[in-house]
Amino acid sequence: VISVHEALGAILEAVPVLEGRSVRLHDARGCFLAEEIVSNESLPAFDSAGMDGYAVRHENVAEVPARLRVVGEIPAGTAPVLHVGNGEAVAIATGGMIPAGCSAVVQKEWCEKGDDGFVVVMRRPAAGLNIRKAGTDIGAGSLVLPKGALIGSRETGILAALGILSVSTGGKPAVAICSTGSELAEDGTAPGPAQIRDSNRHLLLALAAETGCTAIDLGIVRDDPSALDAAIAKGLKADALITSGGVSAGEYDLVKGTLHRAGVSLLFHKINIKPGMPMLFGMKDTVPVFGLPGNPVSTFVTWHQFVRPALLRMMGSADPAQKRRLQAVLAEPLSKTDGKRHFIRGILGDLNGEIAVRSTGSQQSNLQTSVLQADCFIILPEETTSVAAGSRVEVELI
Ligand code: AMP
Ligand code: MG
Repeated sequence: VISVHEALGAILEAVPVLEGRSVRLHDARGCFLAEEIVSNESLPAFDSAGMDGYAVRHENVAEVPARLRVVGEIPAGTAPVLHVGNGEAVAIATGGMIPAGCSAVVQKEWCEKGDDGFVVVMRRPAAGLNIRKAGTDIGAGSLVLPKGALIGSRETGILAALGILSVSTGGKPAVAICSTGSELAEDGTAPGPAQIRDSNRHLLLALAAETGCTAIDLGIVRDDPSALDAAIAKGLKADALITSGGVSAGEYDLVKGTLHRAGVSLLFHKINIKPGMPMLFGMKDTVPVFGLPGNPVSTFVTWHQFVRPALLRMMGSADPAQKRRLQAVLAEPLSKTDGKRHFIRGILGDLNGEIAVRSTGSQQSNLQTSVLQADCFIILPEETTSVAAGSRVEVELI
């Protein structure tokens, strides 16, 4: 039985980084950059007005009120051709390009415009007031995004601002998913006596899609060697294969034997984790195979701890194991004696202005509402036996 830490390390070392591709910016959301983005341009590209008002030479308004002749108007999007001399001002719109010679923009609210072609500036602006200087956001030649960064909506906005409308990204893994178990009823059919509905395959298909992979549905596979052989052979044609169920110690837990027959080399079976202990992992050439335990909560936990980081690495993430972790005050005592690393489904809340967490209640690995209610995992390390209410625990946001 290997530790959670060792298992994740072995997985991340074994999985390949898929070949990248060039994609249009609008198709890149959820992908990872396969190149670093260095800006060729500065942002803003030119000095512009930050307010509607009058562009002036600030020394002309050192004493106020100051009466200036309005020599023109600069709307946004029109390059100024006029020259603003002493005793002159030009009306300018937010985003308008600052004309030569001007060193401040006085907002409209500080001015009184007459009908005589003059404006009276009532308050004295500091030099540079309301001027957005070129390059103050991004300097030409600077690193904007590192290789391996996730492209989300914010990155999309910045890239568009720099005129980068296509990017080189990591690959999009095709992930084959099947549920195993003779107790599972086909979708849309009423479960027979002692049958249950298949939850895991749908959960995994959704998780894979959410992660930016192409999910391939291999359906339900009976606990039967030849049915399993056929499904696994199909699954190994994908970039990664995930099975659920059939990896425990029972007579009908046939996944391990099937993988062996298919030539998958097993890297480990069983992890010192709860829930999810029976998980196995192997590689067939470059294709990772994740045998997840059948209990839906175990499937969910092992997905988050092991499968998702592996897929993110395959997609070219610079930091595939990155988790959003924080410390929270435990609202109830928790204990364990098995020496495993526990991932308790938790609900975050507030306790006297501090972030607090409580468990979702019973932690049996078949209780799917515990996953539904949770917004985090409370992590109890291997050596922990009991944690008192009021002490700090590490939580991992889901
Ligand atoms: P197994 O890992 O095959 O021993 O299954 C452990 C438990 O999870 C059993 O109670 C199974 O009935 C249940 N189970 C297995 N696969 C699924 C599934 N796809 N959806 C919901 N429950 C499942
Ligand atoms: Mg089973």
